[in-house]
Amino acid sequence: MADAEIIAIGHDFIKEMGITDVELQINSVGCPSCRGKHREALKTFLKPKYDELCPTCQERYHTNPMRILDCKSPIDQELVKDAPMMLDYLCEDCAKAFEDLKANLDAFGIEYTVNPKIVRGLDYYTKTAFEFVTTKIGAQGTVCGGGRYDGLVEEVGGPSTPGVGWGMGKERMLMTMEACGAEIPREPGTDVFIAYVGEEPKKAALKLMKEMRDAGIAVQMDVMGRSMKNQFKHANRIEAKKTIVIGDSELENGRVTIKDMESGEQTEAAMDSIVEALK
Ligand SMILES: [Zn+2]
Ligand SMILES: [Zn+2]
Repeated sequence: MADAEIIAIGHDFIKEMGITDVELQINSVGCPSCRGKHREALKTFLKPKYDELCPTCQERYHTNPMRILDCKSPIDQELVKDAPMMLDYLCEDCAKAFEDLKANLDAFGIEYTVNPKIVRGLDYYTKTAFEFVTTKIGAQGTVCGGGRYDGLVEEVGGPSTPGVGWGMGKERMLMTMEACGAEIPREPGTDVFIAYVGEEPKKAALKLMKEMRDAGIAVQMDVMGRSMKNQFKHANRIEAKKTIVIGDSELENGRVTIKDMESGEQTEAAMDSIVEALK
């Protein structure tokens, strides 16, 4: 059930990002108790074809023959066409997990196809493997991939702990969104931009920035040595909601002006109570 739920989260996220033409493909990579048999069957099947495999797959034949199944070489793809697939070698436990996964995805109303060639390169992966694949960005169209990795925590020295999850690449995601004509969401603007002139005001601004961040306020200040005019331009560009200017006179008076960038309204606050004033 957890596997189906994790897949549903990925599915909803992709949908919400406006990505269309995406297909969910699922498979099972088995577990240590059933994978050995498949491995042997696969090696037996590939042995007479060994010399025709690409150099990488000749290597994989010895280290991780399952990975030959998803080699991108068209020659190798042809060679493995009728190869034994993990799905036919699942132990009872793994077979039940795969049937449950399909039933739970059906219950969620999520469509999928079974792709027996989805494999994983590392031994700690178990059972469920899945990919969300699109045709929008060429041949390597996986926008999100994941599955179960029940062996991972133990492999890195922890107690036996099951795990399931997925990962996606931000750039690939953005490329796919662009190809689908989806609207790219804007980053949220910062709460406050602190503009300053001079060395002492800069120190005061840094101190203030730290106080604001500690209070949970999103704040930025110039790190490029911009002029006051360009600092304001920058504040506009990053869509700061409010700006504060610190110069020598503000330091002298101990008071600053907080400007609301949308309404243009200005309010004064004592230097040592700005955080409260902003909140
Ligand atoms: Zn198994
Ligand atoms: Zn190959």
